[in-house]
Amino acid sequence: MLTLTLKPREERRLRDGHLWAFRDELVAVPQAEPGELVRLVAHDGSSLGTGFYNPLSKIAVRLLGGEVDVADADFFYRRFTSSKVLRQRFLGQEEAYRLVFGEADMLSGLIVDVYGQTIVIQMLSAGMDRRKAEIVDALRRLYPDVSGIIEKNTAQTRVKEGLVLVDAVVWGEVPEVVLVQENGLKLELRLLTGQKTGYFLDQKFNRRVVGSLSRDRQVLDCFCNVGGFALNAAQGHASMALGVDSSESAISSAMRHAEINGLDNCQFVKANVFDLLREHIEQERVWDMVILDPPSFAKSRSAIRGALAGYSELNRSALKLLRPGGLLVSSSCTQLVSEHDLLDILYRESARIRKRLRLVHRGSQAPDHPVLLSMPETQYLKFLVFEVIGDP
Ligand code: SAH
Repeated sequence: MLTLTLKPREERRLRDGHLWAFRDELVAVPQAEPGELVRLVAHDGSSLGTGFYNPLSKIAVRLLGGEVDVADADFFYRRFTSSKVLRQRFLGQEEAYRLVFGEADMLSGLIVDVYGQTIVIQMLSAGMDRRKAEIVDALRRLYPDVSGIIEKNTAQTRVKEGLVLVDAVVWGEVPEVVLVQENGLKLELRLLTGQKTGYFLDQKFNRRVVGSLSRDRQVLDCFCNVGGFALNAAQGHASMALGVDSSESAISSAMRHAEINGLDNCQFVKANVFDLLREHIEQERVWDMVILDPPSFAKSRSAIRGALAGYSELNRSALKLLRPGGLLVSSSCTQLVSEHDLLDILYRESARIRKRLRLVHRGSQAPDHPVLLSMPETQYLKFLVFEVIGDP
């Protein structure tokens, strides 16, 4: 096995549990097949563990958390088995969940989502990409009833690893629509064509929170995708829930979801959220709950300022629509924007329009997207619920 050495004093972060060694932290970047299993050592020669090497990537070594001699199907089977135990402990009978969340499962570069009998895999590193057959083999062993596995390798970050983009069925058969239930709601997911890996599983528990707060309320769900929060609000006896998204296909799925769940207290419209909020402000419309769950606004540090401005505008507009006693549900999946940043925005924007807020609940990503403390990169989802304080 090839041994790679870190420059002097570069080992601290890795000793503390971070799993990436950057190319410029290595003494030398030898030629090797992208994805080869290597040993990483500190400058004094002491081992930091084994991992996948990619001389083409800025993240040159992705450690696997410990000593791995061979990364074969048995290795993946053992790792997947322990990931599944964690999911079952927290998710009980839920049939749609993330089995593997990259670094948080000590499998840097791999995402695995289970949707009943269909599994979606994403490989974001050369090491994982090269072991597709082993990964598929291990999944079929762990889930004997699985009927199809899709490779949704469409993330742009693959290009940085020297990998091409692929979106294909890798094993078995995948139906046009995959039926699963989440929080007791029936969903028809078009995994072959959907965004991301099909469904935003990370908001599962937060959707339950919204469901539990919705009774007799008029709920506006901004960036609803295939209906997530609005459907949970409707199931939680909202007097009316309106979902808004700019994607035509997401809106038609959301409408279908309302229909198959027999929910006549929710509606969906295709619109740009920024425009719709402006219109509602002009029309002086009032809501009891407004949910904001926009897509990531910044993938790189240079985009953070713009992202903060986007969150400020959105949250200010939403606040204007809320009656006293109303709830603002403000979420952000931008990893580079912290919960503290979001709280700060809410403090400033609410003060600006003279509304007082009380933070009543904070959530994060669901337990099938755990956070590895030594890798802040694994923590990305913020979910804050505020009450607009009325006259005491
Ligand atoms: N709340 C959803 C997930 C939201 S993902 C859930 O619970 O599943 C973000 C969504 O924002 C995507 O569906 C995307 O189509 C939509 N979107 C992005 N920009 C938008 C805009 N300006 N106006 C409306 N929708 C937008």
